[in-house]
Amino acid sequence: MSALLSVKDLRAYYGPVQALHGLDFALQQGSLTALLGANGAGKTTTLRAICAMVRATGAISFDGTPLAGRATENIVRLGIAHVPQGRGTFATMSVAENLQLGAISRGDNKIGADIERMYGHFPVLKERHRQQAGTLSGGEQQMLAVARALMLRPRLLLLDEPSFGLAPLVVRELFGILGKINRDDNVTILVVEQNAELALALADQAYVIETGRIVMAGPAAEIAANQDVRKSYLGY
Ligand code: ATP
Repeated sequence: MSALLSVKDLRAYYGPVQALHGLDFALQQGSLTALLGANGAGKTTTLRAICAMVRATGAISFDGTPLAGRATENIVRLGIAHVPQGRGTFATMSVAENLQLGAISRGDNKIGADIERMYGHFPVLKERHRQQAGTLSGGEQQMLAVARALMLRPRLLLLDEPSFGLAPLVVRELFGILGKINRDDNVTILVVEQNAELALALADQAYVIETGRIVMAGPAAEIAANQDVRKSYLGY
């Protein structure tokens, strides 16, 4: 396996406030990686830095292409899709229209087939394809947000707290689908999670960050098995 995304000495700033203090990490092609840490550790900022949505320095390369100096839309076009916290579907548009919009930057004629593929992953979206997104349940909206991002046909999917506000059963269903998308569609996934226990069960690799620095990295199963790490950094 080779690194799809490589991040070196990443530092990020909100005005005078430095939120990341030199992160180094890599995502292997086809991996599913969890980025864990307490509130304010810098998880969201890491995803925003990859997408050029916050002022940052360091070297990020995607499949060997340096991302420095590229605008967010350009990075998206290279194959990185970002599902931010809070989902952000278009509330007054239908499920089907949201999925079509997800493919708006694509110039091919396979969009209809991809929408059907998304309905295969998320059958509830098919049942509700005419319903306004704003009237979906929280779990359905999160599924729609993920499906819409996948309509870009990304090679890397960045997910910011997909479990936020969802009932445990719904989270389990969503995580099951994410695992399937990772395995079957060969989409590399980086998922930010507060729910460390669930994320470690889903992921193959994990990084733990604390106040803008990586304090732990390794196979998810090893981190989950380490009681000291769990107690010190993950709170369970
Ligand atoms: P959470 O789980 O609470 O979202 P997080 O690990 O994602 O936490 P970040 O949102 O990345 O953390 O925040 C990292 C640091 O940057 C925090 O100290 C936070 O207060 C600061 N920060 C985040 N956004 C801004 C902003 N817009 N302006 C100033 N500081 C910010």
